[in-house]
Amino acid sequence: MQEKTKKCNDCGVEQSVENFYKSKPNECKSCASKFNKKYYKANKERWLINYQLNREELNEKSRLRYHNVVKVKKAKTNPKTNNI
Ligand SMILES: [Zn+2]
Repeated sequence: MQEKTKKCNDCGVEQSVENFYKSKPNECKSCASKFNKKYYKANKERWLINYQLNREELNEKSRLRYHNVVKVKKAKTNPKTNNI
């Protein structure tokens, strides 16, 4: 039985069809995973930038929230201080 081979559009290597994903019939598995890694890396960098921006915003919000909580707690535990 002859093994079926296919040529990868990306690296141009002719190899067994087993090295191709059905969802990506034009590139071999190693090229597909290379692309995935590149895509993942690009996404991760974008995600990190967003995360840092969000974190600064979140820090500001949580700090404000924390101060509000502390104020409320103090007001509850020391009700007399409000009268002075
Ligand atoms: Zn390839």
